[in-house]
Amino acid sequence: MRKVDYLIIGQGIAGTMLSWFLLQAGKRVVVIDDAKPNSASRVAAGIINPVSGRRFEPAWMYDTIYPFAKTTYLQLSALLQVPVFTERQLWTVFPSSQMRDAFLHKTTGNEYTELPSAMKYEAFLDQPYGAAIVKGATVNLRMLLPAYRRYLQEQEALQEKQLDIAALDITATGVVYGDIAAEKIIFCNGVGTATLPFFRQVKFLPNKGEVLMVTVPGLDTADIIKKGITLVPQQEKETFWAGSSFVWDYADELPTARQREVLEKHLSQLLTAPYTVTGQMAAVRPSGNDRRPIVGFHPEYPAIGLFNGLGTKGCSLAPYMAAHFKDVLVSNVPLMPEIALKRYF
Ligand SMILES: Cc1cc2nc3c(=O)[nH]c(=O)nc-3n(C[C@H](O)[C@H](O)[C@H](O)COP(=O)(O)OP(=O)(O)OC[C@H]3O[C@@H](n4cnc5c(N)ncnc54)[C@H](O)[C@@H]3O)c2cc1C
Repeated sequence: MRKVDYLIIGQGIAGTMLSWFLLQAGKRVVVIDDAKPNSASRVAAGIINPVSGRRFEPAWMYDTIYPFAKTTYLQLSALLQVPVFTERQLWTVFPSSQMRDAFLHKTTGNEYTELPSAMKYEAFLDQPYGAAIVKGATVNLRMLLPAYRRYLQEQEALQEKQLDIAALDITATGVVYGDIAAEKIIFCNGVGTATLPFFRQVKFLPNKGEVLMVTVPGLDTADIIKKGITLVPQQEKETFWAGSSFVWDYADELPTARQREVLEKHLSQLLTAPYTVTGQMAAVRPSGNDRRPIVGFHPEYPAIGLFNGLGTKGCSLAPYMAAHFKDVLVSNVPLMPEIALKRYF
């Protein structure tokens, strides 16, 4: 029997960050992940945006979580030898004069936003109401997740398989799964958590997002471009991740013709230049009903933990929240009440 401190289920951004901080703290960790191709983390664009939603509200805890996320991603970049983190401008095109006024009202004096000294992209975008610059970043999840997976493999800390919940034994001292005995099991398995018997009381509010991959000949930029839809530049020149939709009521996790139509409508309202769709993806975001992370241990089964609810902001929230959870586990610091799992019990 292999004895470890923590068995972590899932290697999306949640399981990646939590296992990283626990390993850094000298803990013995095994991660089990089934490599679901359309997990939220594998489909996401990785945008970190200091303002949220149509009302341009400052993102929750941004001044704390952003510098922490930046430092963490840069450390991982150096360790894994892959470019993980890029600070970028979000060229935010106003869809109307009211939205421009709302933006100016909300963001005046905000260090993360400014008005451009000159317009850009006139040959490519419809932008009669102007645009603003928002200072954000992207996390290259398509590089980070496989590179960190290889790192876990080198540490003999990864098992690539699906967890069979029926085979999990809860014992007096922790859990046993196959040949692994762990003090605690922590579920970082995204929307998969909602199907587990332990977390039926949690008010998950999962929502599906769909995305197109597009090429726009001649549009060669490192900026993110945003108006109704968000274009995020990819490794290949003139190629963009274009998304994403929000659907609360969905039949399955697959791409649909309906959402392709919706996304293309937004593209046609943004782009005046021709574009080609080269792909479509869909995934479900693991969100809670109050849009806050959901972290902690089951009140009846203290060996069973959860790190979930990252919603639309996995890339900005995961590093800080994972490090905080590690401090709760390793150093007994009190868990932030806003994110505590026990609010649902
Ligand atoms: C279209 C779209 C766009 C997005 N864009 C952004 C963005 O730009 N910026 C941002 O910050 N966030 C974005 N998000 C949100 C972000 O993707 C999520 O917040 C984040 O990925 C959640 O990470 P997670 O690790 O909790 O879950 P997931 O990414 O779903 O990871 C769960 C992992 O668990 C594994 N797993 C599940 N069940 C099992 C099992 N039984 N056994 C073994 N393994 C299992 C899966 O294979 C997966 O690897 C977007 C989401 C979507 C859908």
